Amino acid sequence: MKNISILGSTGSIGCQTLDVIRNNRDEFNVCALTANSNIDILYKQVLEFDPDIVVVADYEKYKEFKSDVASYNKHIEVLHGEDGLNCAATYEKADIVMSAIVGIAGLKPTYSAVEKGKTVALANKETLVTAGRIITNMAKGKNAFIIPVDSEHSAIFQCIDRNREFVSKIILTASGGPFRKKTAEELKNVTLSDALQHPNWNMGKKVTIDSATLMNKGLEVIEARWLFDIAAQNIQAYIHPESIIHSMVEFIDGAVLAQLGVPDMKIPIQYSLTYPERTVASDSKLDFSKHNSLSFEKPDTGRFPCLKLAYDALLDGDSSCIALNGANEVAVSLFLQGKIGFTEIYDMVAKVLEGHSRININSLDDVFQVDNWSRNVALELYKKR
Ligand code: NAD
Ligand code: MG
Repeated sequence: MKNISILGSTGSIGCQTLDVIRNNRDEFNVCALTANSNIDILYKQVLEFDPDIVVVADYEKYKEFKSDVASYNKHIEVLHGEDGLNCAATYEKADIVMSAIVGIAGLKPTYSAVEKGKTVALANKETLVTAGRIITNMAKGKNAFIIPVDSEHSAIFQCIDRNREFVSKIILTASGGPFRKKTAEELKNVTLSDALQHPNWNMGKKVTIDSATLMNKGLEVIEARWLFDIAAQNIQAYIHPESIIHSMVEFIDGAVLAQLGVPDMKIPIQYSLTYPERTVASDSKLDFSKHNSLSFEKPDTGRFPCLKLAYDALLDGDSSCIALNGANEVAVSLFLQGKIGFTEIYDMVAKVLEGHSRININSLDDVFQVDNWSRNVALELYKKR
């Protein structure tokens, strides 16, 4: 029986992690759950999975939740804020910590889990985008094991297996998002509801918008750089609209291995929990009679410049990746609130990066210094527009 602590249990990845656990009750036990503010969903999860620790990051919602839980007469520790998240991330009993908070809010608890030498199932890509060097060095020093959950990185992880030294190239696939066929002119007028219609995946709002701008693929290039210790020039992205091949690895002898499956996040989530073993999943089988062609195209960085911005940031250095991420989080949030247009996401991130002067990143304090700077500049740009 493995004990699982889920950071971000009320989100898309968090709920699907609980689906996997529900289907494998004799293999997994939930020991901690955390949410930001969605206490209605959290309460249902608590009743069903009976964890030892529950964390509500938001203080007002925590107070409300704590009094709700008082009527539920089981011993359960209810915590709040950053300290609460760190408790769930480092809980002695947890065999695996599922890191599924969205954005840089996931960095500190994930850092704490790695520092504690935990096995971390990592969905929160922003952790490696903003602190990839710090986290991967710490993981080595503390014997922490990071298992990727992002479908592309799970695919690469499965293809590489024990052959890391023979890898020559990583090929990340991308669906191309809902605007793959739109012209640059048409992209200026797409709406929020258009952008939220992802053709193949049902995900949280932030990653859905990132998929529409292709920033998601850019963040995943940076994530791959750190997870697999591979140079940016050896990571390629290809549009593969069918989302059947989840990514590929080319080896020095020219052999290419790919991982295929239906686009269902429960597959990489389940693998991150059962690794190195596998277990039966109830649905999600590929039917080859329905897929008679798999296609690939080069991403058009003219129409989708965010991907190039991420490659440039990766080549430029760690602080540029942090600035890219911070500006993007602000821009996506403004777009989700209907305050800026779709193509302004790129404009904002590009302008923040233009004004960024690199600094050395040696600690989480350095990371948050650049993150704060980039957020402030992005918000200033919004006010001045
Ligand atoms: P989501 O928005 O659906 O859920 C986010 C979770 O984080 C929620 O439980 C929320 O309560 C919590 N959270 C948000 N802000 C917080 C804060 N400030 N403090 C504490 N908790 C907070 O997001 P998601 O789609 O599940 O994505 C989670 C992560 O996984 C992201 O980094 C995303 O890029 C990555 N990812 C998601 C998918 C997917 O299919 N959804 C696929 C690959 C990777
Ligand atoms: Mg992905």
